[in-house]
Amino acid sequence: MKILVINTGSSSIKYRLFDMENSHLLAAGLIEKIGADISHVSHKAYRSDGSSESMKKDQPVKNHRDGLEIVAALLIDEKLGSIADYSEITAVGHRIVHGGENLLEPELVTPEIVEEIMKVVPLAPLHNKAHLIGIEVAQSVFPNASHVVVFDTAFHHTMPKHAYMYAVPYELYEKYKVRKYGFHGTSHKYVSSEAASFIGKDKKDTNVISIHLGNGSSITAVKNGECVDTSMGLTPLAGLIMGTRCGDIDPAVCYYLSKNLELDSQGVDDILNKKSGFLGICGSSDLREVRDKAQSGDERGKLALDMLAYQIAKYVGSYYAVLGSVDAIVFTAGIGENAAIVREMVLQKLELPFGIKVDKDKNWHNNGCISAPTEISADDSKIKVLVVPTNEELQIAKDTEALLKSK
Ligand code: ADP
Repeated sequence: MKILVINTGSSSIKYRLFDMENSHLLAAGLIEKIGADISHVSHKAYRSDGSSESMKKDQPVKNHRDGLEIVAALLIDEKLGSIADYSEITAVGHRIVHGGENLLEPELVTPEIVEEIMKVVPLAPLHNKAHLIGIEVAQSVFPNASHVVVFDTAFHHTMPKHAYMYAVPYELYEKYKVRKYGFHGTSHKYVSSEAASFIGKDKKDTNVISIHLGNGSSITAVKNGECVDTSMGLTPLAGLIMGTRCGDIDPAVCYYLSKNLELDSQGVDDILNKKSGFLGICGSSDLREVRDKAQSGDERGKLALDMLAYQIAKYVGSYYAVLGSVDAIVFTAGIGENAAIVREMVLQKLELPFGIKVDKDKNWHNNGCISAPTEISADDSKIKVLVVPTNEELQIAKDTEALLKSK
């Protein structure tokens, strides 16, 4: 079975084609800046003998339809293609950021499911609107494939009510669904399950603290394979300091800013989502630049790194209390997989309270080159610490396959 995974953003399309027989990646690509004068198209096809063919091209891509048509053409291209005919694609798995309260499991796309996704648009306007365009266009470009939606929020639906409720008037929850949902669920599900396999335990008996650190970052407490708490909230703005997002702040900051800067709600939202985080603290949103600034003695760069490490350690401490016992702490995503400095700063803070010991050589050796789960804790560490490369697209493909097989 071959499954195409599509992640449609407001101006981008990321895609991967898998052969589910062996979870082999056949092709991967990205179209960026859709709608701009010049868009960037990149595509790579992976051959079974280990070789690959790739191409990068700047060209105008007017809209998502044109983008998906380019993807479709690349997949059957004589030189760059991976399939002879579209009929080889059994299913398309669509990543959907927000499933709200009702969409908890992967679902076959039907008019009813599309309507449910529309209802959640107010909770994730940019993301869910783009996903809906992606579904509509993909259905017309790949009409014979089954289309399945997989929700980023779904893994978090097992949180108990006392963890996901906010202490606001109850009718705001009932009427407007104001509560914590959590995001990066597909990644947390994937890496916590990989971590359990790596340490030789059944995921149903394994407690993991999963730390996903990318441009957006979140931490999840996983008890016996299920999420019991997570750091993001109603939207992906809550939790840790991120590239441009503020993470946890006193909610009163919003109306304080609104009043003092005479901003409407969109103006405040722009500051907290796009101008805060590392960018707001030190002028760079990319962790590599933040790290370089810190290492060259820049105080704000150091502050941004210190804030990140402090906040992660604080969450790990609180999730330890939530879980009672922890089998593994997992670092993943762009920063978690590549930034040994961040892992070291966090783990130093956890040594005294939790007996966690990092093996410095293993941590620094695994700096930007990890392709499989790797342990970075010392042999006498009380809790294992792992770096697990995330693979959200493969998880979406697996979820899509499992749904089709269950039908
Ligand atoms: P997204 O949330 O967009 O998927 P990623 O998971 O790709 O983000 O993570 C992006 C972050 O990872 C950026 O802050 C980037 O600086 C950081 N990163 C990527 N590679 C490295 C590296 N080699 N060393 C340190 N940080 C890195």
